[in-house]
Amino acid sequence: MPDTDANAAQDARYARQRVFAPLGAAGQARLGAARVAVVGCGALGTHLADMLARAGVGRLILIDRDVVEWSNLQRQMLFDEADAEAGAPKALAAAARLHAVNSAIAIEPRVQDLGAEEARDLAAEVDLILDGSDAFETRYLINDACVEAGIPWIYSAVVGAEGMTMNCHVATPEGRTPCLRCIWPDPAPPGTAATCDTVGVLNGAVSMVTGMAATEALKILLGSASTSRELRTFNQWDGTFEGIALGRDPACPACGRGEFDWLDGTASEATIRLCGRDTVQVRPERPAGAPRAAPLDLAAIAARWHTLGAVHLAPGTFARLHAAPYDLTLFTDGRALIRGTDDPALARSLYARYVGM
Ligand SMILES: [Zn+2]
Repeated sequence: MPDTDANAAQDARYARQRVFAPLGAAGQARLGAARVAVVGCGALGTHLADMLARAGVGRLILIDRDVVEWSNLQRQMLFDEADAEAGAPKALAAAARLHAVNSAIAIEPRVQDLGAEEARDLAAEVDLILDGSDAFETRYLINDACVEAGIPWIYSAVVGAEGMTMNCHVATPEGRTPCLRCIWPDPAPPGTAATCDTVGVLNGAVSMVTGMAATEALKILLGSASTSRELRTFNQWDGTFEGIALGRDPACPACGRGEFDWLDGTASEATIRLCGRDTVQVRPERPAGAPRAAPLDLAAIAARWHTLGAVHLAPGTFARLHAAPYDLTLFTDGRALIRGTDDPALARSLYARYVGM
């Protein structure tokens, strides 16, 4: 396409957004200069990333540790059957799809488990983080990292037909909005909250909560005075909607006292069982303060696996061993997803056997 045609296409791309008065050409230019991270490319994350990419946010970082499964297709809008068939890493599949939607922005996928170091690094390089994680540990980590770095983030959650969203630690003329720990100083105890695995989730509820969060993201990036200071909750099935006005807690451990328990703690376990999916994640432990390990040489490991079963190598990204009845997918950071068991001890031993620890 000649340059003039390309320019015309880019000009037309955001036309309906530019004529929206609170945004305008200046607002569009600000979005183009913005850097946003989406943590988690599941139901929430794929919707959020889709909307922000189409809206023209200039740089998007997509983080997810998982691979696409058939049960994802009902609500994870960036994936298709080929992704599920291939067991493609979600961050890569999402980035490929979004590149086809908007090649004019920079999209950076990271196949990664967000730990303390990664959260700190991320908060230092973006203007805003969107939570699509659906995991309390990740949310508290994001909260700590964003409060420490002085940047905003948006909490979103969905289960069944219900959703909620809240802007966290946003600078406004009336002062900062509350952070997550102002509202919930500690997460609910394990096993007490409903999850999408136990009570399901409707894709319309996902669209509603992410629709609200994506618009708040635009307001935050544009510095709008209309930025929400409420916790917004709804139940689509019952037709209820509520906005609860929120204030900061001066005694908040994070934004009040500057204590970042989740960033500084040793929250990551060596083995994490993934709920209800016959898959266990194994992440090798590293002593606190030890330097970050170099990326694994996946090609060398895949070469060693050839006598054990079918091997699939995506250079620099992942290596997968099919050793019936198990599938082991190994990433460059040493993390592995082992499918075919829900037994953490067995998963650890398979990891020790095939990767070494
Ligand atoms: Zn706080």
